[in-house]
Amino acid sequence: MSQPIIKIDGITKSFGSFKVLDGLSLEVKPAEKLALIGPSGSGKTTILRILMTLESIDGGHIQIDGEHLYHMERNGQLLPADERHLARMRQKIGMVFQLFNLFPHKSVIENVTLAPMLTKGVKKADAEKRAMELLDMVGMADKAKSMPAQLSGGQKQRVAIARALALSPKIMLFDEVTSALDPELVEEVLNVMRKLAAETDMTMLLVTHEMGFAHDFADRVLFFDRGKIVEEGKPDDIFRHPKQERTQAFLRKII
Ligand code: ADP
Repeated sequence: MSQPIIKIDGITKSFGSFKVLDGLSLEVKPAEKLALIGPSGSGKTTILRILMTLESIDGGHIQIDGEHLYHMERNGQLLPADERHLARMRQKIGMVFQLFNLFPHKSVIENVTLAPMLTKGVKKADAEKRAMELLDMVGMADKAKSMPAQLSGGQKQRVAIARALALSPKIMLFDEVTSALDPELVEEVLNVMRKLAAETDMTMLLVTHEMGFAHDFADRVLFFDRGKIVEEGKPDDIFRHPKQERTQAFLRKII
């Protein structure tokens, strides 16, 4: 088996006295598409935010692409990662959020070119060329000069996907990217994600309440409850023949 691109080993995370993750371990293979499902508050978003280094961890280890995320190896010793190490590791990962988080005072194309220019020193003309390719891929090339406020939620989310792709990450994280959208706008965003999944070999982790989409998109579905993976397997196994009582109860409620 190829080396995992993500290796999570016994991580713990608390917010105050509330332990969100308690010794979570997970390995993800390169190009694998994972769907994380489960009740609200079970820790799914926290895992994505930890991988994006938007939250710290209290214990355990994470390796991305064979390198420690929160630690640095120096002379055979593991030291806490410094900001430079984190910034370098962060470039391997892109994230798309529920509420888009576009820069409101920047145009669509500026939203996409900003990170490559600032963090990788890409020249403006090159960044714009790549941005237009990405905007074309998500069907937003004709809105390159628009401001975010002029766009629908679905359009904003497609720009946010293009922006996350601009750094050519190996791993993409999608955090409930359709749950703030009007129902008629959900499909256009899911279509972009279907295309990405089919046409690229990026590793993708998706937190979602769209069970139909999770079924079609994922190679593997993880059912979370209270910070633990209760059950995992192929979409058909999880959605049609869940073994655990908690998975069955969750799916009965949601489907
Ligand atoms: P899920 O994505 O499965 O709905 P989350 O990972 O968002 O779950 O949240 C897990 C729990 O951690 C929830 O109870 C949530 O309220 C809590 N939590 C998440 N982020 C924070 C934070 N920054 N401060 C305090 N509590 C938080």
